[in-house]
Amino acid sequence: MQNENLDVDAFRGEVRRFLADHLTPEFRKAGSMGFGIDRKTGAEWHRLLYERGWVAPEWPVEYGGTGWSALQKHIFAEECALAGTPMLMPFGLGMVGPVLYTFGSKAQKEQHLPGILDGSVWWCQGYSEPGSGSDLASLKTSAVRDGEDYVVNGQKIWTTNAHKADWIFALVRTDAASKPQQGISFLLIDMHSPGIEVKPIVSIDGLHHLNEVYFTDVRVPISHRIGEENHGWTYAKFLLGHERTGIAGVAGSKRAVQALRDISVSETALATDSAFQQRLAATEVKLAALEHTEARILAALQAGNNPGEASSTLKILGTEIQQALQTLRIEAVQHYALPFELTQIRGESNEPPPGPDYAVSAVADYNFGRAASIYGGSNEIQRNVIAKAVLGL
Ligand SMILES: Cc1cc2nc3c(=O)[nH]c(=O)nc-3n(C[C@H](O)[C@H](O)[C@H](O)COP(=O)(O)OP(=O)(O)OC[C@H]3O[C@@H](n4cnc5c(N)ncnc54)[C@H](O)[C@@H]3O)c2cc1C
Repeated sequence: MQNENLDVDAFRGEVRRFLADHLTPEFRKAGSMGFGIDRKTGAEWHRLLYERGWVAPEWPVEYGGTGWSALQKHIFAEECALAGTPMLMPFGLGMVGPVLYTFGSKAQKEQHLPGILDGSVWWCQGYSEPGSGSDLASLKTSAVRDGEDYVVNGQKIWTTNAHKADWIFALVRTDAASKPQQGISFLLIDMHSPGIEVKPIVSIDGLHHLNEVYFTDVRVPISHRIGEENHGWTYAKFLLGHERTGIAGVAGSKRAVQALRDISVSETALATDSAFQQRLAATEVKLAALEHTEARILAALQAGNNPGEASSTLKILGTEIQQALQTLRIEAVQHYALPFELTQIRGESNEPPPGPDYAVSAVADYNFGRAASIYGGSNEIQRNVIAKAVLGL
């Protein structure tokens, strides 16, 4: 469907029909689990979108993208968010996928892109290490050449869904003598390789998304390196630009605004609480501004540009809005925010929750939501990026 001939209503209707036909209550429930979604359900939803040809709107058509205009992508993301679709894991589609089709060899593209597209292969991101988060270039996990392989030793941390992933894309040090940014390489590592150990970290929402990943003499074929040795920082930064654009979460925040409006109807006291309504409206105005900024950046992406430093702006504003909406939700559900029932939060309970459904995960979402201004590079670091690269300070 071409932009100039786009019948917006027809396209929106097509998306809505697809969602009405396929988004079962099970998928809706999985939609509230975020990163905590079980792999089977996540892969089923992914597969449905793949079969419809809609799984990778941001990818070039030659690699399986939709060829949609920025407006179509926007409509699709908005309808999915408003309907509460399950989260598609970003590590393949949104992160290593673009690195692969931009910098990968023919063999790497052929090996990895099909499994990312159809959702049969899950990825995780091995960037952060204990002591190397904001100062990522100080990372110490080493890769030393031995014949046709690298031998990898070290530790990654905060690795989301490493326990569900088949592959990890990891930054490793291949030259300890040069400047930190210059001695890093970008490796694709099979998570089933001997010498990899994954240990869980249960986060404040009571769910297990995070992990530590240990590498002990893990052999990785040199052919699994992206691009040139010691040039990994270039590919890593390219990927972070894509990651930060994705974190803005405009469509998800629109859904949260809608949910708060719905709660205002059922909790009539809220409808007349002018302080609450003013704060909700103010957040909605910021969200509208963010939406326009995102549209500009997505249009630049469509023209073949890397989002670059502008994605830092999206990341800061997007996560601030998400956190403001989570705070308003706690206020809206009032005393029903108090029970913290893990079985309810994980969707494992047969008992009805003590309050309305929308109150069940309010505190868990609020607590875990604090992480949004940390992951993908903390918001303080994004401000530093903007100061240097955008404002030239
Ligand atoms: C839920 C979650 C999921 C994550 N998933 C992944 C993943 O899948 N893969 C992965 O590789 N990583 C992941 N991370 C790690 C994330 O990228 C890091 O936590 C983040 O980059 C911050 O690093 P750090 O935790 O080491 O904090 P630190 O770098 O130690 O920072 C601590 C505090 O100091 C501030 N600070 C540090 N340096 C400066 C500075 N120069 N100027 C101003 N302030 C500064 C920071 O903003 C922060 O507030 C995840 C993190 C979380 C919380």
